[in-house]
Amino acid sequence: MDFENTLAFAQLLDEADVLKDFRNEFLFPTQEGKPVRYFCGNSLGLQPVSARAALESQLDNWQQHAVEGWFDGHQPWMFYHKELKRLMAPVVGALPAEVCPMNTLTVNLHLLLVSFYRPDLKRFKIIMEAGAFPSDQYALESQVRFHGLDPADCIIEVSPRPGEYLLRTEDILDAINYHRNELALVLFGGINYYSGQLYDMKQITQAGHSVGALVGFDLAHAAGNVPLSLHDWGADFACWCSYKYQNAGPGGISGIFVHEKHFSNRDLKRFAGWWGYQENTRFLMQKGFVPEAGADGWQVSCTQVMPMSLYHASLLQFERAGFMPALREKSLKLTAYLYWIINEVNRSHGSVLFEIITPQAPEWRGAQLSIIAKARGKEVFDGLVERQILGDWREPNVIRLSPVPLYNSFEDVFILGQAFTENSGKLFVS
Ligand SMILES: *Cc1c(COP(=O)(O)O)cnc(C)c1O
Repeated sequence: MDFENTLAFAQLLDEADVLKDFRNEFLFPTQEGKPVRYFCGNSLGLQPVSARAALESQLDNWQQHAVEGWFDGHQPWMFYHKELKRLMAPVVGALPAEVCPMNTLTVNLHLLLVSFYRPDLKRFKIIMEAGAFPSDQYALESQVRFHGLDPADCIIEVSPRPGEYLLRTEDILDAINYHRNELALVLFGGINYYSGQLYDMKQITQAGHSVGALVGFDLAHAAGNVPLSLHDWGADFACWCSYKYQNAGPGGISGIFVHEKHFSNRDLKRFAGWWGYQENTRFLMQKGFVPEAGADGWQVSCTQVMPMSLYHASLLQFERAGFMPALREKSLKLTAYLYWIINEVNRSHGSVLFEIITPQAPEWRGAQLSIIAKARGKEVFDGLVERQILGDWREPNVIRLSPVPLYNSFEDVFILGQAFTENSGKLFVS
C-alpha cells in the first residue's frame, strides 16, 4: 500500500477500518486534561470499559452468595475457568483442554519447567535466546541450580551475530543441532521484548523435536499480538501474561498451554495443589494426588476469580473482534504505517536519525517497533511525552512503540510521526 503523511490520509484509513469502534471501548489515560496517545500496549494494555462491570459482577456474586458462589450464581467459580479456556484457545491456537488460566507468568514458567525440564546425565542443556526478558533468565538459572547443576554448563544462549540486532533462524537451528546430544529443552520467547523480533516457532519446534528435545515458549509479547498455532506446531508447553496485549490489567492472570500429547503421561512430574486434582472427586479430599486431565491438572491454588473476571472481559472483546486473524490484519497495516512514517522522518531530515531494529519483514514482527535514536534519544522521547504521547524508553537509546489494533488508530500513528518530525527539527538542525 502507498502511504501518505497527512492527517486526511490517516483518517481515511481509520474510516475504512472495520475494528475502529473498539477504540471507544477503552479508557485512555489523560495528562494535563488531554487524552494520551498510547503506544505502550506491549507493556500494559489499556483498560476496557467493560472491565469495571465484569469485576463488579463478581463482587456482587461474592456479596450475594459468599461461599456458595463456588457452585451458585450466574457464573459458579468452580467452573469459571472453563469459560476462559474456551476464549483463550483461539488466541494461542490451541484446544480448550490444552490451556488454562492460572497464577502469574513467571510462576507458571517455573511450574512448567518442573514438568518439562528434567535434566539427566545425558541431556541437561537448555537453549534460549540471549537477552531474553530478565525474569526468564532468572527462572531458568534457578531451575538449573535446583537440579544441582551449573547454569554455565547448561544454559546455551543464542545471540545475534556481531553488528546485528536480530537472531537468524539458521543460527538458532545450528545451535540446536550442535548441542543435539545433550539438549533437554529449547525455551524461546515468541517475540523478543527488546527487538520486537517474532521467532519462527514452527521451525524451532521441529528442530528441537528432531534432536529429541522438548520445546516451550514464553509468549508474553506474542499472545494476543500475533496469530499462534501452538497445537499444530506441536509445541510441548507455553505460558503468557494477559496484561500486555490482552488488556487484563496489571498483575493479570497468566495462561498456560500443555500439548495434548502429554495428557496421557501420568508420570510427568509436577508441583501439585488441590485445584489440579481431578475435578469430579476433588472435594472428597482424599490422600494421593490424581491430576485432572489436560492443562487444568497444572492448577495449584483455587481460581483467582477477581483477576480472571478482567481477563474474561478482555477475551470477550477478542471474540467479538474475530480473534487473531482480524486483529492481525489491522495490526500489519498499522505497524507498516508507523514503519513508513519513521522512515519519512529520516528521509525528510536527510539522514538516519532513527534506526528501526525490528525486522522489516512484517511476518517477523508483531505490533511493536523498536527504534534506536542515533543521538539525543532521551530528549526525543521527552518531546513525545510533552505532547501526551506515551511510548516506552529503554536505556541507553531505544524507544519502543506498539500501535495496538483494538485501540490505536492510524491518526495516532500520524500524530506520533508529526511529533517525531517537530522534535527532530528542533534537536537536529540539518
Ligand atoms: C513481561 C514479561 C514477563 C513478566 O513476568 P511476570 O511474572 O508477569 O511479572 C516475563 N517474561 C517475559 C518474556 C515478559 O515479556
